[in-house]
Parts: sequence; structure tokens; C-alpha cells
Amino acid sequence: MSEHKDTKAIRTQIERSQHREHSSPLFLTSSFVFDNAEQMAGMFSGKIPGDVYSRYANPNTNEFIEKMCHLEGAEAGFATASGMAAVWASIVGLLKSGDHIVASRALFGSTHQLLTQILPKFGIEHTYVSGNEIDNWESAVRSNSKMLLVETPSNPALQLIDLDKASAFAHHHGLLLNVDNCFSTPIIQQPTKYGADIITHSATKYIDGQGRVLGGIILGKKQLVEEITFFCRHTGPALSPFNAWLLSKSLETLSIRMDRHCSNAQQLATRLSNSRHVAETLYPHLESHPQYDLAKKQMKLGGGIITLVLKGGIRAGTRFLDKINLCSLSANLGDSRTIVTHPASTTHSKLSAEERASVGISDGLIRISVGLEHIDDIASDIEQALET
Ligand SMILES: *Cc1c(COP(=O)(O)O)cnc(C)c1O
Repeated sequence: MSEHKDTKAIRTQIERSQHREHSSPLFLTSSFVFDNAEQMAGMFSGKIPGDVYSRYANPNTNEFIEKMCHLEGAEAGFATASGMAAVWASIVGLLKSGDHIVASRALFGSTHQLLTQILPKFGIEHTYVSGNEIDNWESAVRSNSKMLLVETPSNPALQLIDLDKASAFAHHHGLLLNVDNCFSTPIIQQPTKYGADIITHSATKYIDGQGRVLGGIILGKKQLVEEITFFCRHTGPALSPFNAWLLSKSLETLSIRMDRHCSNAQQLATRLSNSRHVAETLYPHLESHPQYDLAKKQMKLGGGIITLVLKGGIRAGTRFLDKINLCSLSANLGDSRTIVTHPASTTHSKLSAEERASVGISDGLIRISVGLEHIDDIASDIEQALET
């Protein structure tokens, strides 16, 4: 088989059945049957390879995992029902009460809730650090620190973390490096190349890419993924076979979709950076991005997300949303349809203006998840909504 990742994402497939189907079939079955007692005992114990029960594994989830392992360069994986199930299991499957996590402050909203509201109930504490100030991370490390948890680029402020330095830092202090790679996908950035131990994805975003299903995956070193798999098998966050089947099909087009998401986003960011209504346009591959050199080094393409800061704060943000026609007002991202959001009046409205500022969210900040529509149609809609 070819070594190219694009080909592997298309050609990795469940073994063909007697029906000689070209496209992988969907295995909507909760359990699997055995020929005899010996086979049953062997498959239950894991001595004979084969599926037993779909909470453990299923041909469709196996195919999805195998493709994702090729794309990320990971040894093993476990597919989950959502991105948050993956993030949760990647932590709880490895850590125990009394352990401590060093985490970059600008994390996905529910990951922040997990660290601050849920994990402390189980005796797992954390300390936040600023993603772009690695030189100051040392003081956050404690004798019981076990994991460094990061997202790069961050949502929605598009701050980058230097994966090379983060990995060196983590391993110097004996921490597992856990990277949420949802924003970049393995097409743009592969954390395993820098030595990441664990990678999580919300497959709900670019991996599905069409806003249809929830899903997630944990990838990484074999021994760690085995521990997490044990946790998942006995707690039940498994991905459904139907969603795995859809997500595996979606991987066949991930690479070409990411090319278009990124080229549309690059063009839109360039156009908006010249708009008189915009105080700031943030896009990793725009030369004005404060970490442009790192973005060029670490990210093959600039990604599909653009962040704008409107002149005029909260009111300008809500007025912008009300004038949007073609694009969607929605909470999702990574869809074929362009989506605009205004965090200060929605996802982050419960935080104070100071708390928002500490994670890089100003009141006029707009996040655009640039879709696959024609770039001129996307740009016209955004530009007319900026005109007051
Ligand atoms: C959406 C998202 C998640 C959570 O994924 P779900 O599939 O919604 O559970 C986690 N991390 C990041 C960066 C995300 O964007």
C-alpha cells in the first residue's frame, strides 16, 4: 500500500465481504457471534483477534481509528461519542486522585468546565499557564504534576503554542503531553512529530466537516491508549457504528476539504485586514499575526478559522450578526457552511469582560469558521454585514 497519507485515508478499508462491495458497509450490530466455545473464549480474552461487543470495538469504529492513526502518525486509538468524551477519557483514563495538570489557559469552553468544576471532585487539580509564554511555565509544575494539556491554535483567539518547546518542557518535567488537535486536523499539523503522547479530536468539526454527527477520538502511544481503552470499554463512551461509518467516509475528503477551507480563509483574512470596520484580523498565516513565524513553521496551512475584532465592542458584534445573510449563526465550526459567532454575547457571556480579556476575547471579537462556499459569496456577505 502507498505510504501517502491521503491515499491511506481513502484506501484503508474493512475486509470485503462475499458481496464484493466497493464502499465499506455499515455494521449496525451490538454484538458478534462465535463459531464455538474455544473461539468465544479466545476472543473474550483477546488471545484471538475479533470483535465481541460494539461498546468495545466494531468494524466501522476500527476502520475510522485505523485511518486516523495513519493520518496522525499514532500507534493506537479509541473512538468516542463526542470530542468531550475524548478529552475527558484522555485525562481520567490516565490520571488518578492527587494528580495535577498544567494546562494552557485558552481552552475549549467545556474543557475549562471539566478542569475547574468536575475534575476537582475527583481530586485532580490544575494550574493554568499562558500558552505563548513557555518561559513562565516552570512555576506551575508541582511534584504531583502528570500532564501538560494544550490546544493550538486556541479558540477563538488563535494563540499558538510552540509544540516543539511544549514537548521539550513536558518531557523534561516528566509530564505527558496531551494535545487537542481539533482546530488543525492532522492535515495541517501532526503533534506526534513533536513527541506528543496523547492527541484528542472532536470529530464533530472538520473530520465530519458537514455538521451532521458528533464524534471524537483519542490517539497516541500504544501503552497509554491501552490504559484509556480499558477505561472507555468499562465506562461506555463508545462511538456509534453509524457515526463511525460516516466519519470514516468523511476522511476520504478531509485533505481536499482542508485545502479549500484554508485557501478560502487565507483570501478572506487578507481582504478583511484592509477593512476600515475591523480593528484587527487574526489568522495564523497572515503576516500580521503575532506568531506568524511559528505558524509558518508548525502549520502547513493557516486553518479554517479567522478571528476579527470589530471597532465598537458588544453592540458592533450583535449588529454584525443581525446583518449576516448567507453565513450561519451557529455554535459549531469546521462545517462546509460558513459560520459566524460572537463569543462575548453568547458562549462567553457569563464571564466578566476582564475574564474574557484574560483568554484573548475582546467584546468586539467575531469568530468566522470559513466554509467551502465560493469565496466571493462568503466575502460579500461578511463585507456587507460590516457596513453599518
Ligand atoms: C468542539 C470542540 C471540543 C468538543 O467536541 P464535541 O464533539 O462538541 O464534544 C473539544 N475541543 C475543541 C477544540 C473543540 O472545538
